[in-house]
Amino acid sequence: MDSLERLASLFEKFPGIGPRQAERFVQYLLRGGSALRRELAKTIEELSGAVERCSECMRFFASLKKSATPVCTICADKDRDAKLLAIVASNADLNALERSHTYRGRYFVLGGTISLASEKTNHLRMRELLSSIPARARNGLREIILALPANPEGDATAVRLREELAPLSKESKFAITSLGRGLSTGSELEYADPDTIKNALAGRK
Ligand SMILES: [Zn+2]
Repeated sequence: MDSLERLASLFEKFPGIGPRQAERFVQYLLRGGSALRRELAKTIEELSGAVERCSECMRFFASLKKSATPVCTICADKDRDAKLLAIVASNADLNALERSHTYRGRYFVLGGTISLASEKTNHLRMRELLSSIPARARNGLREIILALPANPEGDATAVRLREELAPLSKESKFAITSLGRGLSTGSELEYADPDTIKNALAGRK
């Protein structure tokens, strides 16, 4: 395999990318010039060195220096509203909310949804979430928004979260809301367009 074919076969491993799109990417890089290729190679290289998990929202981010309690740019941003906390299933869902440019609160990445077959939650960061709530409440938390996928697993996860959060919500007087279903049933937040997300946020209850 020469390097063009090797690159095409690497692109083909990307989610949703077929052989023809992979080939188009390769052609684009060939036409794009050496500056583009260097930037791409350098950015990918940086990923392996400095990716950390944020100690507050639990998302992965590229950090400039190693730290015992890494904090991502979103969590470090003092202009973000500490009154709002959105609980999302994945990094991809967080990115979808960010792309809509309507949400200015904080996040927590749960790490998945409850599987309906097993009802197991031990793969989720339920405990980390619950233990972070008192400090968030002291910091002015007024509302937790359950921004979970609009499917049966997401719904089951929302029910469980409401149960787990209820005592804390009573004690610290914050509301628990869910995204409005401008998102059609079964659709993933990750693939929703910014307007749909904006409507789902506006219609939360
Ligand atoms: Zn963070």
